[in-house]
Amino acid sequence: MLVAPSSTIDAKLFRQALGQFATGVTVVATLEREGQPRGLTVSSFCSVSLDPPLVLVCVDNRSEAHPAFLASKLFGVSVLAEEQEDVSRRFASLEADRNAFKFVRGPQGAPLVPGALAGIECALHAVYDGGDHRIYVGRVLSLEARPGRPLVYHASGYRRLTGEDRPIG
Ligand SMILES: Cc1cc2nc3c(=O)[nH]c(=O)nc-3n(C[C@H](O)[C@H](O)[C@H](O)COP(=O)(O)OP(=O)(O)OC[C@H]3O[C@@H](n4cnc5c(N)ncnc54)[C@H](O)[C@@H]3O)c2cc1C
Repeated sequence: MLVAPSSTIDAKLFRQALGQFATGVTVVATLEREGQPRGLTVSSFCSVSLDPPLVLVCVDNRSEAHPAFLASKLFGVSVLAEEQEDVSRRFASLEADRNAFKFVRGPQGAPLVPGALAGIECALHAVYDGGDHRIYVGRVLSLEARPGRPLVYHASGYRRLTGEDRPIG
């Protein structure tokens, strides 16, 4: 087992330890000034509050999507299904042509991925400094969900849920 004292956090060990926290995968998309959707793959998504309904996403400071998040004050979070690994790869690649992707629009106009397990439209509620990321808190405006198996990300790789679909216990 690798152990690091808290004063010297090694980047590799940080990734290794945090990578043990399995997550779903989302595409978070906002709107450029011209109305063109601007999306990226995000696993740092979580619910924050039920009343008021708030969620958060963390976006790398190097992303060029920040002006669009701040100007449009609207974003959509699409929770990807297990068969949407290609969508995740596309929105995680700096080379892929993301502009050709056909988003659908939620009731409030936010870009959502068709066929996703859940679509969550958010109004920008707050922005916080998160070190080398920026934390966007969104107030949920609309929700849609369908049953299905999620795409899972764990230990730097895409995973699938296996076994019975019943919750354990
Ligand atoms: C499963 C998974 C989960 C992810 N979760 C997150 C997440 O929670 N938050 C998040 O911010 N990213 C996350 N990423 C990475 C993100 O999807 C990609 O970095 C994506 O290409 C960023 O798109 P963008 O539109 O923000 O970048 P662009 O605006 O197109 O990038 C502009 C420039 O910024 C630099 N840059 C931007 N982001 C990165 C980066 N991550 N690494 C290196 N250089 C970069 C590059 O130099 C690039 O040329 C995840 C990727 C995967 C596969």
